Amino acid sequence: MLITCPYCGPRDVSEFSYQGDGNRTRPDPSSTDQSAWNAYVYDRVNTAGDHKEIWQHAGGCRSHLAVTRNTLTHRISDVAFAGGTKRRHGGRS
Ligand SMILES: [Zn+2]
Repeated sequence: MLITCPYCGPRDVSEFSYQGDGNRTRPDPSSTDQSAWNAYVYDRVNTAGDHKEIWQHAGGCRSHLAVTRNTLTHRISDVAFAGGTKRRHGGRS
């Protein structure tokens, strides 16, 4: 599987570190709602299809990336910096 890093271009997945589900929303840090924190820490959606994930290019520029990957085919349809700028994935999956 190749992931196209916006800085480095297409690179093998072995250069990347999976950082988790990209769909989670952290509760307000001052919140004491235990059910909200429990859901944030433990609950995951087991998507069959396109899924937003966070990957770090640990073996390269160390950027954190928001990657949309199809969990059935491993096809990557979108890569963006986790903090913002988008770039379409042009590499093979
Ligand atoms: Zn990179």
